[in-house]
Amino acid sequence: MVVVGAGPSGATTALLLARRGHHVALVDRARFPRDKACGEGVMPPGVAALRRMGLYERVLATGARPLDGVTYQQRGGDQQVHVPFPAPPGGGPAAGLGVRRTSFDAALVDAVRQERTSTVREAERVTGLLRDPSDAVIGVTTTTGEIRARIVIAADGLHSQIRSWAGLTVPSRARVRYGLAGHWRVDTRDRDAVTVTLAGGHEWYEAPVGPDLLLVSILTSRSRPAMTARSYGHVARRSIPGIRNADLVSGPLGAAHFHQRVRAVADGRVFLVGDASGYDDPTTGDGIAIGMLLAECLAGHTGEFLSGRIARETAATRYAADHADLVRDRRRLTRLALFLARSPALSRRAIVRATGDPRALSKLVGINCGYQTFRDLSARDWLLLAGV
Ligand SMILES: Cc1cc2nc3c(=O)[nH]c(=O)nc-3n(C[C@H](O)[C@H](O)[C@H](O)COP(=O)(O)OP(=O)(O)OC[C@H]3O[C@@H](n4cnc5c(N)ncnc54)[C@H](O)[C@@H]3O)c2cc1C
Repeated sequence: MVVVGAGPSGATTALLLARRGHHVALVDRARFPRDKACGEGVMPPGVAALRRMGLYERVLATGARPLDGVTYQQRGGDQQVHVPFPAPPGGGPAAGLGVRRTSFDAALVDAVRQERTSTVREAERVTGLLRDPSDAVIGVTTTTGEIRARIVIAADGLHSQIRSWAGLTVPSRARVRYGLAGHWRVDTRDRDAVTVTLAGGHEWYEAPVGPDLLLVSILTSRSRPAMTARSYGHVARRSIPGIRNADLVSGPLGAAHFHQRVRAVADGRVFLVGDASGYDDPTTGDGIAIGMLLAECLAGHTGEFLSGRIARETAATRYAADHADLVRDRRRLTRLALFLARSPALSRRAIVRATGDPRALSKLVGINCGYQTFRDLSARDWLLLAGV
């Protein structure tokens, strides 16, 4: 088994397969710790996945910060509503985590490294798929040679090349959004939540990711404010009061073209997981959590195949069904969030109404966590969201 990409999705898949006794090569072109443009908020289902893997304390020890919910505000901060994270239906704490991707991803990779049946291959780029004479995928080629494997798992991120080489990419015509993220030296001891500022066509995200480190990211599709890596520091200082006199200590890092669609998430030889398996937009901040949940399903089904209990086609069909179940409502939620974010008048009304009655917004956060579904939204909730 080869897993390409050692971000949260790939590392989780590799770890769970190795813990079941399967031989796994986890390959990444980067050397860890490596950084990545991200809002760095792990939503509660991701924290629950960390606990299931026994890695929560280890991640907390890297300086990660427990988060109790999300505060939404309109530009200017005059209207603000705090929505606590809901408790998981099966019990357990209602908490997210603010993490530095450098330490978070490295902690997961270190856990894989400790498994007897795994090999972590860093600074090794995968350059293509290895095929037999009948064109079936039998592994990958890399900058240092070949890795033969019964299954190739593509966890190589948003712009997955494995996905394209396997013919699983569908071109997207969605409007291009992009994001920039940087870290600011700020005392974050009084911050326990992610703050989302809706600014009409673009959104700012603030998350404490260490005792004196604040992540500030912007997601936008417009050139107003003229946002480039160069202007990020200046525009962020002007827009976020809490960092006006703070030092920018790292970044910004950027990413773009979020909307990615796939023909299938598995074809029996190649399985896609995390961002590589299709993505909408980071606006709901659940990419890490959903990547880990998908990885759990994937490790379960491919593990069954590797143990000889099911056929590879069955593993593919079962994984595709789980994948669809996990992403369906979250994708609808992302569309709704983008729709609200695009209209300053609508989002202002929704926030003003939520300050008096946050139930509808709480349900949306519950849907984002996978604890509720769109069926839980009543007609009254829809009216609240419309600001009526
Ligand atoms: C601006 C922004 C803000 C975001 N905010 C949040 C947030 O607050 N919370 C959240 O949960 N998510 C957020 N996300 C999304 C989140 O970053 C992703 O969903 C998450 O990183 C996906 O993890 P992954 O493991 O699938 O892929 P990645 O983390 O992207 O990992 C992919 C890995 O594959 C490796 N790789 C790629 N190609 C190759 C190759 N050819 N050979 C070998 N290795 C290769 C890369 O080096 C990388 O390490 C945000 C994203 C952006 C851009």
